[in-house]
Amino acid sequence: MQIGIIGLGLIGGSLGLDLRSHGHYVWGLSRSQSTCEEAKSVGAVDEAGVNLTEIKSLDQTEVIFVCTPIDSIIKTIAAIAPQLKSSVIITDVGSVKSAVIDQAQTLHPRFIGGHPMAGTAFSGISAAQKNLFQGRPCVLTPNQTTDQEALKILRSLWQSVGAVMYECDPEAHDRSVAWISHLPILISAGLILACDQESNQAIAQLAQHLASSGFRDTSRVGGGNPQLGSLIAEYNQVALLDSLKAYQRVLADLIHQIEAKNWRSLEQSLTVAQQLRNLYL
Ligand code: NAP
Repeated sequence: MQIGIIGLGLIGGSLGLDLRSHGHYVWGLSRSQSTCEEAKSVGAVDEAGVNLTEIKSLDQTEVIFVCTPIDSIIKTIAAIAPQLKSSVIITDVGSVKSAVIDQAQTLHPRFIGGHPMAGTAFSGISAAQKNLFQGRPCVLTPNQTTDQEALKILRSLWQSVGAVMYECDPEAHDRSVAWISHLPILISAGLILACDQESNQAIAQLAQHLASSGFRDTSRVGGGNPQLGSLIAEYNQVALLDSLKAYQRVLADLIHQIEAKNWRSLEQSLTVAQQLRNLYL
């Protein structure tokens, strides 16, 4: 197929690498010329440019993935839609869906929202890697007006790069990912910021030396792309605040158990947590 990717960063670049390895022709559009050059040299795209007019294969394009930051998705679709045939399928990879879907579908009826549940702590084209989506969940958010043929094509493209497909409505997506993706980013960032509250410099330095696999695991998502975390909070504010307040209640309960020296109750809570964890893995 002839595929376009707009926003050649971690997700866009990684997708380009995988789609090209399956024989698709991929063009890329990004903000900076140096990113376009790097995307070509690492093999993420066949051609790239900073303006749609530079893309030689635009007329043959069948599918476009918008992989820009969340706050640029609608602006990007508004800018490209008038220049595309109505048959072109547009999708996105944004971490939040409700804020995008209605407007995007109005701008281009053959739009379907998407979100691959894959990432690393790094960003930009230099972070792009092969097989990023292998074995990872990917959500599409079709609705009653969605073109079924377009849905089938997107499903099979994501499956071809190894993703495990799910479908749900945008609100269900945003509430679900608030629990398992957006809340962990804030908790993990909070953990790092809390460690920085140690007032004794010698103790703080010793803690930094002793930090090992446990701290690496629990701090990983909090140490990721700050722009992404902040846009997620802005665009999924209600669901994220609900989950953060639930977390605050659980944390207050754990603090209370420790203050009250209720070790039996604490062990019970930790046993429940140990069992529940398996449901998410
Ligand atoms: P990223 O690594 O920062 O890449 C985004 C790239 O988009 C930037 O490198 C930038 O390239 C380009 N860009 C920015 N504004 C643009 C614009 N207006 N037009 C064209 N290109 C533009 O970010 P990412 O992690 O790939 O995230 C991209 C999208 O994927 C976001 O919507 C995010 O919510 C979603 N997502 C992220 C993850 C994750 O864990 N990172 C996971 C799933 C989904 P230049 O270098 O050219 O400026």
